[in-house]
Amino acid sequence: MVSEYGPPRTARECISEHILTPSQIQDFDWTFLSLVPKLIENEVDFAVSLGLIHNTNKCEACNLPRVLIKRKKLLDGYMWRCRDCKSSCSIRAGSFLEASNLSIKQIIMLLYCWSLDMKQVTIKKEISVSSRTITDWMQFIREVCEQDILNNPIMLGGIDEQTNNPKEVEVDKCFFFKRKYIKGPTQDDVWVFCAVERGSHRCNLTTVEEKDREGLFPIVRAWMLPGTRIISDGWADYEGLDQFEHATYEHEHDSARPKIQKLSGGRQGLDTCDLHLVEFMWRHREKGEVFPRIIQCIRNQYSFGAS
Ligand SMILES: [Zn+2]
Repeated sequence: MVSEYGPPRTARECISEHILTPSQIQDFDWTFLSLVPKLIENEVDFAVSLGLIHNTNKCEACNLPRVLIKRKKLLDGYMWRCRDCKSSCSIRAGSFLEASNLSIKQIIMLLYCWSLDMKQVTIKKEISVSSRTITDWMQFIREVCEQDILNNPIMLGGIDEQTNNPKEVEVDKCFFFKRKYIKGPTQDDVWVFCAVERGSHRCNLTTVEEKDREGLFPIVRAWMLPGTRIISDGWADYEGLDQFEHATYEHEHDSARPKIQKLSGGRQGLDTCDLHLVEFMWRHREKGEVFPRIIQCIRNQYSFGAS
């Protein structure tokens, strides 16, 4: 059996001999200038080296590694074929790219443009795809972010180990979103409850269905470590949360509100609202390492093993 990262038995049983490690991906200086030549030189090899496409493929029926066959007519120019039973499959099988008709160049460039927080309309133009396609892809990427946050929840606050003081987390209820796609004169606006850790800028955001204050207690407990000093404008009553300190803030030091200004305006219905919040939280956690981190998340979530 050929392991994902192990040496191939023959050259044709694997695509690339240069699989990048997570730290190599992390440390590489990603820019348009460094990325584009790699895509032009050999996009298939590059996608495999990033861990976006599997390097090898096994025929389950014969328990044999399939071999790589060139097929110019295919989108990627290659397919896997079993020497024995002649069964074949796409080189994208089992990968994040599997269901897409976009070229590898387009997909990697899309991920890179997304990582730079470019506007959807700009990405759409730069990689020449339809509005529907770009919307679907933005959704796929947000789902990867969501899964990563579910796997690695963002816990805020607690006690600062160095100073032994409580960490401060600002909380606020912020925007409401109109459900644009529901017909009729509905005013079902949605509150967004947010928490931002002072100093680190790490944040959590969620839509809040219940407008009453009691609804926030479980959220605060789920997000914050015991000992946290919660700073709010006094909108909600946190007195019942004994394991936390509570203080009200002076609005001139309010930093929670501007942080989510980006989320206002132009956003869509409630269904996509939560995923927009997730993307926002995820980006804030990654801080400048967005491209290597999204690549790593895709790699982890599509069973490319060790991270
Ligand atoms: Zn076979």
